[in-house]
Amino acid sequence: MAEVGGQKLDIVIVGAGLAGLAAAISCALGNHNVCVLEAAKELAEIGAGLQITPNASRLFRDWGLGNEIETIAAEPTLLAVHRYSDGKILAEEKEFNEKMRRKYGSPFIDVHRVDLQRIMYNKAKTLGVTVELNCRVSSIGRSPTGPEVTLESGRKLHGDLVVGADGLWSKCRECLLDRADKPLPTGDLAYRIVLELDKITDPELRRWVANPQVHFWIGPHAHAVAYSLRAGTMCNIVLLCPDDLPSGLSKTKGSVSEMKRLFSGWDPILTRFLDQVDEVDKWKLMHREELESWTNPRKDLLLIGDSCHPMLPYLAQGANSSVEDGGVLGRLLSYVKSKDQIPWAIRLYEDLRKSRSEIIARETFRQRDAFHMPDGEAQRVRDSLFASQLGKEISVKFPSRWTCPEFQPWLYGYDAYHEADEAVKSQPFQAEAEVCRRS
Ligand SMILES: Cc1cc2nc3c(=O)[nH]c(=O)nc-3n(C[C@H](O)[C@H](O)[C@H](O)COP(=O)(O)OP(=O)(O)OC[C@H]3O[C@@H](n4cnc5c(N)ncnc54)[C@H](O)[C@@H]3O)c2cc1C
Repeated sequence: MAEVGGQKLDIVIVGAGLAGLAAAISCALGNHNVCVLEAAKELAEIGAGLQITPNASRLFRDWGLGNEIETIAAEPTLLAVHRYSDGKILAEEKEFNEKMRRKYGSPFIDVHRVDLQRIMYNKAKTLGVTVELNCRVSSIGRSPTGPEVTLESGRKLHGDLVVGADGLWSKCRECLLDRADKPLPTGDLAYRIVLELDKITDPELRRWVANPQVHFWIGPHAHAVAYSLRAGTMCNIVLLCPDDLPSGLSKTKGSVSEMKRLFSGWDPILTRFLDQVDEVDKWKLMHREELESWTNPRKDLLLIGDSCHPMLPYLAQGANSSVEDGGVLGRLLSYVKSKDQIPWAIRLYEDLRKSRSEIIARETFRQRDAFHMPDGEAQRVRDSLFASQLGKEISVKFPSRWTCPEFQPWLYGYDAYHEADEAVKSQPFQAEAEVCRRS
């Protein structure tokens, strides 16, 4: 439980993406003062759909946002994996919505990013968080009293703790490392498409959108995923394939005809959806090498979200694990009663978060290997394993981690607040130990 009393910390969060807002809400609920600095002039999450899995929807419920978010979401009743060429079902989980709620006590939902960001922003404001827009951080240094954040405008801000939540191209990461450090290509790119139900006339496609489900089509070196948003009034489609963007270009307008050519010969239901597309964005998918540490030696600067663990979106965990980061951080800080306890909490944060997020990131690459197999012997072995489990309760380590009985409970069963509470119980603050560690 968040403890009231003691010294309130001044926490500066760099970035008002989903990681930054999650941390802001959680730290404010932990009874601290929070200021978020955001480079953009206005908050407008780019991209479209976002799959929210129970490991994050649980936190939204903890923060009193469950109803509001679940009302504007679509909750899929089926998760199916199809062969790319003919749409044959390789794997499917029916009554997916009910199973998720039953197993994990919290739903799997699909939302529009803009809706989620607005709800999180409003919650942060209600909790007294200051969000300053048009504030690009250019460096993080030290003052006699603690970390000092300098903005491009020259303005300086001070806090007890600085949280780098500034995404893939993180400046905070470079400040932590004290050197330039750019993201690396994964070798894949994404075409991101949003279609509105109102503009679709084909009755079969309309039925697909109005009846929220998640569909994957998996093929050689590529896959596609489609799911509904906003209570089935919108459809989000992402096509994943080899990256052909020049090295300096991370996002651009895509060519609809090129996109259709790449996926021609795929399941007709997918290509009929692609026939509805007028415009599309093309995103290079980037990642990072794992860092030795996410925190500085003084434990007053730390990283969360894509700044420290960007991943392929193949398990839909980038934002979900960023929300976990924010949840754990705020909960741990709720136990901090004085500034000398900060290093203890930040050490626990790193212990809890780093290995888990890095495992998830590595698994996104393994999911790529499993989904992108070219036709051939390995693909036939994979598909016969899929076939052996069709219509049954899956009982083997499964090529789709989305429904794998080993991986899914580990991923979706994570309760960030519980993890933080247990860590505090097992490693309570000990003043002397902290002094020894720091000297
Ligand atoms: C195609 C695709 C599909 C995806 N689908 C999913 C999904 O279904 N589920 C899921 O969980 N994840 C998904 N992800 C991943 C997810 O989008 C990211 O992991 C997540 O948005 C990262 O959040 P963040 O807050 O760390 O970074 P960002 O969202 O990038 O936010 C960083 C913020 O920091 C600000 N900023 C940057 N530099 C500065 C600075 N110097 N000073 C001040 N502010 C700064 C930026 O303006 C921005 O607002 C997907 C990603 C892609 C590419």
